[in-house]
Amino acid sequence: MGAKRELSSKWFFRISILTAVYYLAGKFGLSLAALNASASAVWPPTGIALASLLLWGSDTWPAVFFGAFLVNITTQGSFATSFGIATGNTLEAVLGAWLVWRFAGGANAFSKAQDTFKFTGLAAIVSTTPSATFGVTSLCLGGLASWNQYGSIWLTWWLGDMVSNVIIAPLVLIWKTQGLPRLTSKQIIEAALMLLTVIVTGSLLFLGKTASSAEHEPLGFLALPPLLWAAFRFGRRGAITAALIMSAIALWGTVHRFGPFVGSALNASLLFAQAFMGTSTLTALVLAALLSEQKKAEAILKESEVRFRAFFDNAAVGAVQLDAAGRIVQVNDAFCQITGYGRGELRGMHPSDLDHPDEKESDRTRMAEFLAGRTLNYDVEKRYVRKTGEVIWVHVTVGIIRDGNGQVARTASVVEDITARRKTEQALKRMRDELERANADLEHRVDERTAKLREMIAELEHFSYALVHDLRAPLRAMQSFAGLAEQTLGEQTPPAVLDYLQRIRAASGRMDGLVLDALNYNRAVLQDLPLEPVNLYELVSGIISTYPNLQPPTAQVHIEGSLPVVLGNKAGLTQCFSNLLGNAVKFVASGTQPKVTIRTEDRNGMPQGGKQTPSGSSNGALVRIWIEDNGIGITRESQGRIFDMFQRAHAGYEGTGTGLAIVRKVTERMAGQVGVESEPGKGSRFWLELRSASEGL
Ligand code: ADP
Repeated sequence: MGAKRELSSKWFFRISILTAVYYLAGKFGLSLAALNASASAVWPPTGIALASLLLWGSDTWPAVFFGAFLVNITTQGSFATSFGIATGNTLEAVLGAWLVWRFAGGANAFSKAQDTFKFTGLAAIVSTTPSATFGVTSLCLGGLASWNQYGSIWLTWWLGDMVSNVIIAPLVLIWKTQGLPRLTSKQIIEAALMLLTVIVTGSLLFLGKTASSAEHEPLGFLALPPLLWAAFRFGRRGAITAALIMSAIALWGTVHRFGPFVGSALNASLLFAQAFMGTSTLTALVLAALLSEQKKAEAILKESEVRFRAFFDNAAVGAVQLDAAGRIVQVNDAFCQITGYGRGELRGMHPSDLDHPDEKESDRTRMAEFLAGRTLNYDVEKRYVRKTGEVIWVHVTVGIIRDGNGQVARTASVVEDITARRKTEQALKRMRDELERANADLEHRVDERTAKLREMIAELEHFSYALVHDLRAPLRAMQSFAGLAEQTLGEQTPPAVLDYLQRIRAASGRMDGLVLDALNYNRAVLQDLPLEPVNLYELVSGIISTYPNLQPPTAQVHIEGSLPVVLGNKAGLTQCFSNLLGNAVKFVASGTQPKVTIRTEDRNGMPQGGKQTPSGSSNGALVRIWIEDNGIGITRESQGRIFDMFQRAHAGYEGTGTGLAIVRKVTERMAGQVGVESEPGKGSRFWLELRSASEGL
């Protein structure tokens, strides 16, 4: 509420001021009216009204109406004519203000030449027509003017308003928006001199010769130079002030029948003077606006130049500018540091002077291709030779600056010293090469060794087969000769001799078994064991069904739950499980039926001391298979050695002591492990750990 009241009191104040000023200015204008008491060629109120509406807003229009009404009703005519004239004047102000706001930059119309022209066209020429039309029509209707004078009164009215909008409105707007200038003492002296020149020139031109004097000459155009001086040196404020002074002198002179515009009738003289004043003011204003625009553009350009300079000079990378002929015109500090040359030395040089001799030619071609537009960009890593002769690596990117016709005007390059990076890269490459060489060498040596080993193994294999063959032949001979001796001697054979012969046969039979087992072990060591997924359940149940001693009534061998598919070798696994199951039913106290359980270790039923491994393990995980028997068990001391060759823990049981050695060898070759948990008299629990091939069955 308070704000509203404040606003309305402010509004009242403005309305009162404007009404009073309008009234006084109107009275002054009408005092110069010649053709009709209500139509003057000089009409300052129009400009004042337009400027006020632009500065204070168009809601100040009632002041224009009251002011105009008062001026007219106190001059001549009725309420009706004064009302008509006031309406025209109000329309003029409101329309002018709206047009200028909308199209010519509002109160700042005089900061641009284009807006100054628009202001003249819209406010001075267009918006003044309703005022003249309403005014003159009202006069004629009210009988204050005759209809045959309509044209000349209309022109007078319109021209008065127009010049007022060209001189008075800009004067108010410019001083109001720009404020008082801050001048140096030199400028104050110059301003005084300029104003003096305006006054003297004005006086000489417009207050000199009278109309009646014979030598009267139309030298009005000489008023222009001082106005241009004002515009040129003191901008818009100078231009409009000088124009106002010059116009005032011209007006005063013309009214008092002096100067070049004076003709037979005062009204016609005033019209000439007005036309002159409007034209010269517009000229000065446009010049001032142009100068201000230029100054602004220059300031912007200068600022951008300063910014660019700062960037160019302080850039961490080298920057170079070349002219159209490809010579260096500008470099920054970083570029001097990179090349080792001073600014003066670089200026005028061609960048290819810096190139490494090996690259000069190729680089020249590359640059020519780029400048001709045949390649899209120039982004190159190359070598420079510094002033000291040192060779460095640089990364150069070039951009083209073209002139208005699309021709190459300049080129700008960004140059970065990449020597350190290149050195690191080269060192890395050297190391990589060396590593590759060493690797290749190593592989070669490994291949050689492997080949040698294979050769040795083959020899060994050959040797062992030969040995076995050679050993078995005499053993078989011993057996058959002992048998023959038994047969030949028949029943007369003394019991002691028979016993010897049987011992010979038994010993040579054992010897043959040993030789065969040694051969088996040898095979386990040497044979190829390619790995594949093996279904353990199928494999183990196959073994059980093949050997009668693993079946009832001799024994009870039972597979508990499922067995996994493992990654192993079928033949190798068959050997392992046959040996383990064979032992499990063999090492049992006499009179006891062997009972064997085979199962996969699971999380919950983890056997004591065993390693926890899930039964349904995924690919590559380890799984444990347990073979548990109810046999005689193995002492702790023996457990450590029974996996070695020819090691046995119990006498009185058949065997050569190679079975478990073969199991261990084969398991290890399948990347697995074997072990045992046992106590004498409490059975044994052998386990195999293997790699799972897929989910358990
Ligand atoms: P062999 O069975 O030919 O004697 P092995 O290498 O298969 O040779 O076994 C080595 C020794 O380990 C056996 O002599 C035996 O003392 C002991 N052994 C193997 N399996 C068992 C078992 N399930 N229960 C008790 N002792 C065993």
